[in-house]
Amino acid sequence: MNPITGSVEMFFFPFIGGGHQIPMTDTARVFASHGASSTIIATPSNTLQIQNSITRDQQSGLPITVHTLSADIADTDMSAGPFVDTSALLEPLRQLLLERRPDCIVVDMFHRWAGEVMHELGIPRMVFTGNGCFPRCVQENIRNHVVLENLTSDSEPFVVPNLPDKIEMTKSQLPVFLRGPSNIPDRMKAMKQLEENSFGAVINSFRDLEPAYADIVKKRNKAWLVGPVSLCNRTAAEKTARGKPPTIDEQKCLKWLNSKKPNSVLYISFGSLVQLPPEQLKEIAYGLEASEKSFIWVVGKTRARTLKDPSENGSGEKWLPEGFEERMRDSGKGLVLRGWAPQLLILEHGAIGGFMTHCGWNSTLEGLSAGVAMITWPVSAEQFSNEKLVTEVLRVGVQVGSREWVSWDEEWKEVVGREKVELAVRRLMAESEEVEGMRRRVREIAGKARRAVEEGGTSYADAEALIQELKARRLAKEEG
Ligand code: UDP
Repeated sequence: MNPITGSVEMFFFPFIGGGHQIPMTDTARVFASHGASSTIIATPSNTLQIQNSITRDQQSGLPITVHTLSADIADTDMSAGPFVDTSALLEPLRQLLLERRPDCIVVDMFHRWAGEVMHELGIPRMVFTGNGCFPRCVQENIRNHVVLENLTSDSEPFVVPNLPDKIEMTKSQLPVFLRGPSNIPDRMKAMKQLEENSFGAVINSFRDLEPAYADIVKKRNKAWLVGPVSLCNRTAAEKTARGKPPTIDEQKCLKWLNSKKPNSVLYISFGSLVQLPPEQLKEIAYGLEASEKSFIWVVGKTRARTLKDPSENGSGEKWLPEGFEERMRDSGKGLVLRGWAPQLLILEHGAIGGFMTHCGWNSTLEGLSAGVAMITWPVSAEQFSNEKLVTEVLRVGVQVGSREWVSWDEEWKEVVGREKVELAVRRLMAESEEVEGMRRRVREIAGKARRAVEEGGTSYADAEALIQELKARRLAKEEG
């Protein structure tokens, strides 16, 4: 309990990668808006980024702060992979918890070592996995019910059993750790343990998006669906302050978009982690140019850079076809961004008619909440499941046709050719009945997302319910 205000005291302990730190920060802001005294636990390196995201909330009087731990994890560019070991934070975390004794801590599953200290100090922990109910159910049911050895090949489709929808996957689309018990690394087991004996899960999703799957998840364990948390960013300033400082000036970006017709621009991003091989960058560029559609392309990291090619400066510039960028700029067809884009601001602009995405859960949810149909291009993590949700369950996107799961730090097994890229772009950016249907459905989803987080909505109610439960727990404890 916060001794001054008497409100419930919640701690949030985000992982340092973009796809985890950003939604956890937004989650803390959501709970602060419900009156919980929210503290985000940061390392010295990521304090500033987090502080930037909450300054406006503080100015308007919301009970939210950052606490900086005395140890650091040297990764400041938001691309920390799940294997980064953060256990150097254990002792300063223990000290903080001892001093403050919060009512609960929402902890990212990648801090896999953290369960023990929370258990020891009797602080209830809620685990944040960063994904939604549908991918959880898909993964869980594959893990528990599919005998992959019975498949004749990696490309043979199998139906994921006991799901509300008929979902077919292939072994090639599965994360390595789902392909057999011998592939489960110790760190995965530790993550599972973090979830077991937890107080429950805080999930960035909303019931109306995936009602049947939300029911399954809530039946299995306690869970609070409080999203889409990105919707707590209401002003342009809040949207641009998320994550890293954007490479493009907000006004320049909006001016470019304002010059385009509604629904005419495709936004392309592979999130904060995916590293495209140089050959893939080229194929995307050729495919885009051939499609003749307008686009904003956030060229993220290239694998050449991580492989330490001395001639690569990290911008991907060297790998784009000769003169591509100049042609796109001069014709006004395309904006190539390097580094970090103000994604929410872009997605919510009326000129955006499609989103080519790697199907990270946040990007997927942000695209849906903005009412934008998608070209799905899953690469890693649970992204192939998210693709199924978008294209087959919700029917608001088309698949580019990627088939091979790769770990974020592995060599790509397949490059999607320019023809497939062009085809998918032409299909999604066309004025057709099919696309009209997708846009109608995704706009309905966006409306439901907004209603979920407003007073009277399910996510609003779940956030309130968790706070009430923590209050009741504290009272019971105080009464002995
Ligand atoms: N993001 C952004 N600008 C960028 C790249 C990413 O704002 O240039 C944000 C995006 O809005 C999302 C997060 O970073 O909130 C990426 O999370 P996601 O789950 O989509 O993918 P990951 O980066 O974890 O693979």
